Amino acid sequence: MTYTPAWLRRCDCRCPVHHGYERTTYADDGCACTITCTTQPMTLLAEQWNCALFLDIGGDLWFVNRLPGGQWDWATCDHIHEHHDFYDASIIITRQLRQTAAVLANPTQLRREP
Ligand SMILES: [Zn+2]
Ligand SMILES: [Zn+2]
Repeated sequence: MTYTPAWLRRCDCRCPVHHGYERTTYADDGCACTITCTTQPMTLLAEQWNCALFLDIGGDLWFVNRLPGGQWDWATCDHIHEHHDFYDASIIITRQLRQTAAVLANPTQLRREP
């Protein structure tokens, strides 16, 4: 099983901005990528916050708000900044998503604690 990171794949979701192209920035004007676009990294659908959370190529956390009708508000996609009420929560989620990504990348490298 060969794995190609999301940022090296080409958009396959008929987005008017990205279709057929790589996508490494997310707050692009006019982007209509689906949350299951092949360019979308491992994503946590956080219905509690009505958004989706994911890590970029550098391991930084982004959020994108859900719009009615299965659309996503890429134009306002952003990091969770320090003054945000959810900032402390976002630190924990970032750490856990990085850990999950590492486990998924190397599932046979795990050692159980004695
Ligand atoms: Zn797009
Ligand atoms: Zn796309």
